[in-house]
Amino acid sequence: MKPLVTANIERLRPYAPGKPIEETEREYGVKDPAKLASNENPLGPSPRAIEAMRAVAVEMNLYPDGGCYSLKERLAQHLARYDVEPHNLIMGNGSNEVIEFIIRTFVGPDENIVTGDPSFIVYRLASISHNREEISVPLKPDLTYDLDGMVAAMNKKTKLVCLANPNNPTGRTFNIDEFEHFLARVRDDVVICLDEAYAEYIDDPNVPDGLKYAPLRHRLVVCRTFAKIYGLAGMRLGYGVSSKELVNYMDRVRPPFNVNRMAQAAAIAALDDQEHVQRGRELNLEGRRTLEQGFDRCGVKWFQSQANFVLIDLERPAMPIYEALLYKGFIVRPVANYGLPTCLRVTIGTQEQNHGFLAALEEVLAEQRDTQA
Ligand code: PMP
Repeated sequence: MKPLVTANIERLRPYAPGKPIEETEREYGVKDPAKLASNENPLGPSPRAIEAMRAVAVEMNLYPDGGCYSLKERLAQHLARYDVEPHNLIMGNGSNEVIEFIIRTFVGPDENIVTGDPSFIVYRLASISHNREEISVPLKPDLTYDLDGMVAAMNKKTKLVCLANPNNPTGRTFNIDEFEHFLARVRDDVVICLDEAYAEYIDDPNVPDGLKYAPLRHRLVVCRTFAKIYGLAGMRLGYGVSSKELVNYMDRVRPPFNVNRMAQAAAIAALDDQEHVQRGRELNLEGRRTLEQGFDRCGVKWFQSQANFVLIDLERPAMPIYEALLYKGFIVRPVANYGLPTCLRVTIGTQEQNHGFLAALEEVLAEQRDTQA
């Protein structure tokens, strides 16, 4: 009998999301745990977006505008300083879907994809599900990309390189010089996916702004999302910015109506509320400093982050600490599936959550010391 699925599908494992709040309440007997596991925005969506979603609820008998006309117009206006026009935009059901489009559209059966390891796991999952070879180049010891190593790993069959800046799960970034040096050495026929899901959180002026490069580098797709600073992860909306030609090809593989009506309305309203975005940015910067100082106090190793999460290295198996934190009502993200079994990824929350988390971590570490003594 023929196997039911091809070998690549057999090899694939479903994406493991952060532990849901309801499940944690049930299994660990805690009430209202703080979810610091999925890099969600602790401020929630903009009140204007909530109002817009309520207003369109009554229209849900109608299909959305498959071409996202109004949303693209509004987003292009928001990105006008980069000379972005609606035809430079491809909208996706989360930026996840844009990554899928890029692989499906540009990488042929006999071509490969170069990524870093660890990097955002969806690059690997999408490569395997489309049965495309993935070449992953280990990060450097400081967990930044080995951009030289990635250039060296490219071969004749390389068609796509995926870079997340900041990277997930590390929060680490490359700087302008490193990126420009990299760009100069990547063949022109290779498509570059520059995933900037956390772009709006960056405060280091040395980190490149991918959108400035979109007009300079023809085969570049910059991915961004409404899931993070815009607080609309549940709406599933992300976008790619690229040349008209690349967008036109990606549009051919896009399923009809991939972005729902409520998401389109929410995003337009969210773009109108840049004060909310600014509040999210400030809260995140403050929280990042609080966590960094707290980790120093507990003697926990942490990695410099430009995103809305911080990776910590406990220098011992992290799972028991993860479990003990769940009992104290804090859900963080184990990253053993990223090859980092001694690390945890902590999303920056409200200041109350950040302080609560640090106190819980301190307790857990003290309890573990006591049981070992
Ligand atoms: N890229 C990176 C680097 C991410 O960390 C995430 C979110 N986990 C995404 C893309 C996907 O975001 P979205 O919700 O827009 O699909």
